Amino acid sequence: MSPFAERLEAIRERIRLTGRDPAEVAIVAVSKGRPAAQCREAWEAGVEALGENRVQEALPKLEGLPEAQWHLVGHLQGNKARLVSGRFALIHSVDSAGLAERLARNDRRQPVLLQVNVSREEAKSGVDPEAAVTLAREVSGLLALRGLMAIGPLAGDPEPAFRRLAGLAEECRQATGLPLPVLSMGMSGDFEAACRAGSTMLRLGRILFEGSVRKGELGSQ
Ligand SMILES: *Cc1c(COP(=O)(O)O)cnc(C)c1O
Repeated sequence: MSPFAERLEAIRERIRLTGRDPAEVAIVAVSKGRPAAQCREAWEAGVEALGENRVQEALPKLEGLPEAQWHLVGHLQGNKARLVSGRFALIHSVDSAGLAERLARNDRRQPVLLQVNVSREEAKSGVDPEAAVTLAREVSGLLALRGLMAIGPLAGDPEPAFRRLAGLAEECRQATGLPLPVLSMGMSGDFEAACRAGSTMLRLGRILFEGSVRKGELGSQ
């Protein structure tokens, strides 16, 4: 087993210890800043997808490993919508009707998640929780809406914010009549809390590629 595969196995065990079935929690290896060889190692170890947060960095990596599933997890500027059209299996970061329209113009049924700012931190992108249901209705008319995404709070217990996202997903299901199976929440420093709150998709970078998260670095990205 490669060191990466061993770390992946250990994370799946930690998911199990939260009471969840690891088979029901997809792992997106967030490979931003990592070289192509590490992306390949991650994909071959059996992660469900590779995640990138910058379009410019992602496109050449994606061309070098076309057999992998690639997700865009980072903020997407409207003027880049044309570039990502049809290239990613899932875009996690739709947070406005304008962005959804630009994506729709290029690729009508691009699978997407709605990013919600459940922890209300200024620096984070994402739609306000109060506006999420309305936006979900709009986006589902334009794109293939699959669920919701959030980044946990920088400080304090992340579980309430994750539970809030799970509750919003239920409201969005009722409002749209769609199954919206994906709850993309949980990173290296908070994935166990996210699992307890019902995450179905973790976005893991440092803990997968480096094996640990140094204190003081939690949520610093
Ligand atoms: C970098 C990044 C991650 C992974 O962060 P880690 O703390 O290294 O696990 C997850 N989601 C997004 C949007 C990111 O930009």
